[in-house]
Order: sequence, then C-alpha cells, then structure tokens
Amino acid sequence: MAHYSWSNEVYPQLRLAVSDCLRGTECRYNGGHAQEDFINRSLQSYAVFFPFCPEAPVLGVPRETIRLVNVDGNIRVRGTRTETDVTDSLQTYIDKVIPHLLKQDLDGVIVKSRSPTCGLERIKQYRPTGEWFGSQDKMGQGLFTHRLLEKVPSLAVEDEGRLQDAWLRETFILRVYTQARWRMFLQSEPSVTQFQAFHRDHKYLLLSKSEVIYREMGKLVADATAQNLPEQLKAYAQKLHAALACRTTTGVMINVLDHIYGYFKKLLSEEERQLYIETREEFRQKIIPLIAVIKLLQQFLKHYGSEYLSTQVILDPYPADLALRSKTTAYR
Ligand code: SF4
Repeated sequence: MAHYSWSNEVYPQLRLAVSDCLRGTECRYNGGHAQEDFINRSLQSYAVFFPFCPEAPVLGVPRETIRLVNVDGNIRVRGTRTETDVTDSLQTYIDKVIPHLLKQDLDGVIVKSRSPTCGLERIKQYRPTGEWFGSQDKMGQGLFTHRLLEKVPSLAVEDEGRLQDAWLRETFILRVYTQARWRMFLQSEPSVTQFQAFHRDHKYLLLSKSEVIYREMGKLVADATAQNLPEQLKAYAQKLHAALACRTTTGVMINVLDHIYGYFKKLLSEEERQLYIETREEFRQKIIPLIAVIKLLQQFLKHYGSEYLSTQVILDPYPADLALRSKTTAYR
C-alpha cells in the first residue's frame, strides 16, 4: 500500500507539466527562453517537471512567429510573415504529446502566457486578412492548451503571467497540492474508513472553497460502502476538482478561521482571545497576511491540543517557504 500523509510537514511531490521555455530551454521562436523564477527556484525542490514544447519540434528554432487566425469560427495557425498554414502539423504533434503527458498522472500544468500555442487565455484571434481590431475581435486559448483542456477540463492549468498574482498563485498551488494528496490517496487503495478520514482532514480546506460543494461531498462519503466505493470516489473526485477551482475570499477565510478558533475559545485566556480578535481584524483589513493568523492558531493548537484539528490540511497545506500566505494580497 502506498504511503500518503499531509501532516507533520510531509508534502507530496508535485507532478507538473511545464512549457519548456519557462524552464529556461531556448526553444522560443527567436532562440531565446522565458525562464521563470517561481517555477525554477521555488517549485523546483517540490516538483517533478514534465516539460513540453509544441512548436520547436515541428517548426524548428529559430522560426517564423505564428498567430491564430479565425476563419469563420475555424481556428488556424499561420506564419505572421509568410502566412504559411502550420495548423495540421502542429495539431498532429500536439495530439501525440498530450496523451504522453496525461500518462504522467499530472497534478497541474503551467503554460507560457501570450503564446498562440501554449497560452491559457486572451490569445488574439486575427481576421483572415491578418488584421485585429482589439475588443471587436475574439480572443481564446492557444492550440495546445485548448486541446489539453478539451481532453481534461478538470485539469489545473495556469500561466506564468497569472501566477504573478498572489491570489491566483495561492489558489493554483493549493489546488495542485490537494490534487497530489488525492492522487496518492487513490494509489493507497483506500477503504471506506480512509475515505471518511480524507474528507474529515480536508473539511476546513473545502469549506474555504465552497460550503455547498463540501456538503455534497459529505453526502458522497456518508453513502459510501465497500461495494459502491469506486463510484463514490469517482463522483467525489469531480466535486473535489470543482471545489478546488473556487477562489477563497477574505470573508470566507475569516469564517473558516473563526470555526477553528471556536475549538479553543473556552480554553483561552482573555489576553489570548483579544490577541486572536485583533490579529483576525488586521487580516481582514489587509494589514497583516493570513500566515500571521494561522501561526497564532497553530500556537493555540500546540498549547491546548485538538486531535480533530491536528490533521486539518488547511493549517499546513504546502511548504511554508513557498510563502504563499505571506502577502496581504493573497486573498481578496
Ligand atoms: S510558449 Fe510553448 S511553444 Fe512557445 S517556446 Fe514556449 S513551450 Fe514552446
């Protein structure tokens, strides 16, 4: 049985596919790269990367730049200078690469922004004449990312540009870490009791995402039997993806913090209660980041103890040195 754990600072190793130019490979149209620090410095120690580049193996390096052209709703990829149509050769390669990547049991994907192949959103679709009239014209996803999400809509995909935003970064990393825990949990061939434990340990994490989905997931767990477990796990996975895609707001996070605080409330001294109320208020006003409130609750947990809270993933969901909860902008 595979081992999995989310307590005591044991984190699963992430399995992330990454646009190769973001890893520093010189595969861009001009022979350059787009090396990205968060991926290569911060995530490097916690992830195994599966790099891909849909363009270089097909079009070479250096190469003519390409763009998406919307021909009556049909998206083509053409050279910006010669207008050579490279859609079919790119698509053939993409259709070989995607199954290979998906076999790697990925927790998430980080793509290069603004690329007509790898881009996640807002990629310009030019008119057949080569013109683009701003907001009047459509924007979409790059050829590769569109196909990938068509195949697996629930896959966590972000681009490196959006990951500069503290809120989106925290959401994505929490999502891929939870997905990694779920992957390891499934590999452990869990029993119904272990299924209940997974759900229990993620209670406050899920509540920070969506109370409605959390309740629906609870029903799936409650109805699980040894006979229907595979179906219940499958349905649970779908809800888990939906929950993890939600972004946590400051208000919802405060609600969750207050629930956790409730476990200690009667045990705390007046001074400690006051400290929590002030710290929580400063978090609400964006004077201090979430990590300050979490540290305080962890301190209460250490001092007063709570078996139930000691395995709650939300108190320690990913390595602290990723510093995802250290910015006041990590929640809105
Ligand atoms: S954006 Fe995608 S296609 Fe372009 S160089 Fe990077 S990995 Fe290759």
